[in-house]
Amino acid sequence: MKDYYIYYNNNFVKQSNATLPVLSASTQFGLNVFEGIRIYKEDFFYIFRLEDHLQRLNNSLHQIGFDIEVISTKEFLEILKELIILNNIKTDFSIRFTYLINEIDSWSSNKRPVFFIAPLIRERNSADTYKTMVLTKTRRISSFAMDTKVKCGANYINGRYALLEARSKGADLPILKNKDGFISESSGACVFLVKKEVVITPSLDCDILESITRDTVIKIFLENNYKVEERLISETEFNESDEIFLCGSAAEITPIKLLHKADFEIGDLTKFIFHEYQQAITAKSYKNHSWTTKLDVKN
Ligand code: PMP
Repeated sequence: MKDYYIYYNNNFVKQSNATLPVLSASTQFGLNVFEGIRIYKEDFFYIFRLEDHLQRLNNSLHQIGFDIEVISTKEFLEILKELIILNNIKTDFSIRFTYLINEIDSWSSNKRPVFFIAPLIRERNSADTYKTMVLTKTRRISSFAMDTKVKCGANYINGRYALLEARSKGADLPILKNKDGFISESSGACVFLVKKEVVITPSLDCDILESITRDTVIKIFLENNYKVEERLISETEFNESDEIFLCGSAAEITPIKLLHKADFEIGDLTKFIFHEYQQAITAKSYKNHSWTTKLDVKN
């Protein structure tokens, strides 16, 4: 991986120089909150749903007990422009925006967190690639124990266990049921299924992250007069669906083939949402939503 400049603890530094103590609260216990945000390069750079990501990060900060406010949109944009220039970025990329405790302390730390913003080069998905998926024995963590709406590093170890299980079974990705046995989400993305032209996704009480892409997908389908249902989904219903796709800032729209299904073709509604989502993220349509922030830097 290229040694990009990142913004860490109020300075622009090379990633390799951005260090923290091995006994910091964040390295030991996964005590951090973060966002992954995509930036798309067209004539200009476009950031997708920035305000929503900043809002969710602010919620995560408060819920995990970090007593600070997320930086302003203006400050974020200034840092981002500088990162594009310093790193001479000319393509699509994403950023990891993380608040962490960089001091030696315990999980109970009440020290002041610092943040970093780090670019990662990441291209868009291509329309004809899909991933295989298997339902895991590993269940999604319960929001009664670890609030799944908080985008916290430690929550991802649940996804890691599920991913290891899925890979051991020969699939690319897991799908997890929640504590009550209903379909929840994948290791880093939300799930949709299609049955008889109806678009169905687990409701927010299914121990999922309140995904920004999930919200985008629902709005796009509704605007195009499709029927969308947010509700509990059983394992049987999931297995009998006509189409499945994942969504997320990183996953974008990812077509899914269940591992045990013999024949597979990417379905029509999956193709439709893939295309519409690409239009939305590059500010070519759905402009009435103001989902994109155009960055005033030409590189
Ligand atoms: N669920 C989990 C566990 C995730 O990590 C992500 C990625 N942030 C998502 C869902 C999708 O969320 P979003 O659309 O906001 O990126």
